[in-house]
Amino acid sequence: MGVDMDFDVIVVGGGHAGAEAANASSKMGLKTLLLAVNLDTVGAMPCNPAVGGPGKSHLAKEVDALGGVIGIAADATYLQLRTLNSSRGPAVQALRAQSDKREYSNWIKNYLETLPNLTLKQGMVNRFIVEGRRICGVELAFGERIKAKAVVLCAGTFLEGTIWIGKQTQPAGRAGEFPAVGLSENLRSMGFTTGRLKTGTPPRIDGRTIDYTNLPVVPGDENPDFFSFLDKRPVLEQVPCHQTRTTEKTHDIIRANLHESPMYSGMIHGIGPRYCPSIEDKIVRFADKDSHSFFLEPEGRSTYEIYLQGCSTSLPVAVQQQIVNSLPGLENASMVRAAYAVEYDYLPAVQFTHALMAKDLDGFFAAGQILGTSGYEEAAAQGIVAGINAARYCLDKEPMILARSSSYTGTLVDDLVTKEIGEPYRMMTSRSEYRLLLRQDNADSRLTPIGREIGLVDEYRWRIFCEKQDAIRAEKERLSSTRVKPDENWIAALSEIGEEMKQSLTLEELLRRPRVPYSLIESLSPSEEGREFPHAMPVETDIKYAGYIERQRHQVEQAEKYDSVKLPADLDYTTLVHLSKETREKLNRIRPETLGQAARIGGVRPADVSVLMIFLETERRNRTHAERGKNKTDLAAAGS
Ligand SMILES: Cc1cc2nc3c(=O)[nH]c(=O)nc-3n(C[C@H](O)[C@H](O)[C@H](O)COP(=O)(O)OP(=O)(O)OC[C@H]3O[C@@H](n4cnc5c(N)ncnc54)[C@H](O)[C@@H]3O)c2cc1C
Repeated sequence: MGVDMDFDVIVVGGGHAGAEAANASSKMGLKTLLLAVNLDTVGAMPCNPAVGGPGKSHLAKEVDALGGVIGIAADATYLQLRTLNSSRGPAVQALRAQSDKREYSNWIKNYLETLPNLTLKQGMVNRFIVEGRRICGVELAFGERIKAKAVVLCAGTFLEGTIWIGKQTQPAGRAGEFPAVGLSENLRSMGFTTGRLKTGTPPRIDGRTIDYTNLPVVPGDENPDFFSFLDKRPVLEQVPCHQTRTTEKTHDIIRANLHESPMYSGMIHGIGPRYCPSIEDKIVRFADKDSHSFFLEPEGRSTYEIYLQGCSTSLPVAVQQQIVNSLPGLENASMVRAAYAVEYDYLPAVQFTHALMAKDLDGFFAAGQILGTSGYEEAAAQGIVAGINAARYCLDKEPMILARSSSYTGTLVDDLVTKEIGEPYRMMTSRSEYRLLLRQDNADSRLTPIGREIGLVDEYRWRIFCEKQDAIRAEKERLSSTRVKPDENWIAALSEIGEEMKQSLTLEELLRRPRVPYSLIESLSPSEEGREFPHAMPVETDIKYAGYIERQRHQVEQAEKYDSVKLPADLDYTTLVHLSKETREKLNRIRPETLGQAARIGGVRPADVSVLMIFLETERRNRTHAERGKNKTDLAAAGS
């Protein structure tokens, strides 16, 4: 069976962004083609074999809530599941899965192969086919031309990718894979600006050569949470991780060899991720710290390879081996894969709209590392947005734009297209001003109705979602309507946590008290005899933090006022002389879509926003005046 060379949507890339984009577009009924340099590495995890963690788990759960794949894949292939920050507030709690790297990638590839409207094909895109200001398809390295109404570029670190180990360098998309050479030049010839970034990965160790005897164990949770709220998932035996630390010897080795690092010798020009620094970076930047933690994380059930989390480096191989052997438990360990850094071209995302479509090229979308982020979850979140919007573009429908207040996904996209970010962007909970509204436990209630409306959430998921929401509503109702008397059970249980009860109270009134956990209420007044209520977190948080949540909702309403004011796409800001020169230049470069977006651009001051408001109001009055004048003329003409 040959490949039909005419598609609605072409997704270039089979990484985490490409997988979500292809899933969304094909499930929305569009004839979709996914192209990858190597089909064996679809869904590959080139760095950490893990999904989730602070900020990232929120993204993974949001993608799941919209009908994406990352959550189900992580739940089907975990080695270990653990909730981080479990003793802290609900806004910052984060699920993290240690994943079986090969199983994860196989799962994604097999899943994509089963989608009826999706074709997978191995092929390197060399050039885009453009007519006027519209994308029409792609041309592959061996000359095949494939037509499409929309293209989603999810090329990761492959554009002019160069990997570095010490002063040795080699063109590669990532270790062992061809780079995409010439595609950046093609993008520049189409009018795009490109930049250069870098990222790195740590060495992998042969687990059989590690002495775990004295190393602290990091186990999974006994009753783990999951990424997807769908209930069909395998129960897998959990595998422990371990911890080790750098020693004085490690620091001496690194300091003595800094001149061998391509970053410190000035050979790498790309900017690296500030929040995921290399070990040489950590030793230089935090010179007063005498030790850094590393985690020993298994890469799979069918391999002995161990990922040395925290030890990303681009020092020469011999130095890496010395570093490894300076760590407790790893004195005799052998390295099976060396750490390396990769430098690559990216497209600054301010050239794209909130739909992730290029401002100057209709039908051309991008998502993932190519837009300046780092991380699987960040890529997946953009992938689903770009895939949905590419499909909606083909169907001639308005794009799906997620507000900052709706999700971390909306926050991520807004940050990318608004702020001129010069380093790999990684999601953190501190990036959201609405942290209490955007919790991982309520991702489904925020986004599943949107996923349903756009056609990504199927009957089964929708039924599970509705049942869950009904149960939450019923439990809140029960808590507010059940009144309990201060009998000896309640008095004893409350006094244990330093609380008193002098009169009868509703369960909701009790739960509102900061020290009273839902588990205490449930132990004395269960929702169902003999069975724990499965959705305690959203119920408890909504009740306990009701005041704060209300305040954040009020902030959202204020922000929405600015976000609903559209700015003309062709507005020449140089004509607004009351703006500073710097602001005029910035606004002309970024061309914000709304007043709210303009206000969030770095360096745009409240006074600048006032100038824009006055300009818009004057324009509106001029238009009304002109319309009135026209109506009068028309009436006069009709009367004469
Ligand atoms: C060395 C390294 C270190 C990393 N370190 C970290 C880290 O410390 N922390 C972190 O969070 N993330 C890290 N990452 C990033 C993480 O792997 C990526 O952010 C994530 O995989 C990006 O997903 P993506 O879908 O954008 O691209 P990728 O997963 O890279 O997928 C790119 C896809 O595009 C395809 N492709 C590329 N060019 C073409 C073309 N011309 N034609 C056809 N197909 C093409 C490739 O075949 C591939 O399928 C690292 C990645 C690498 C390579």
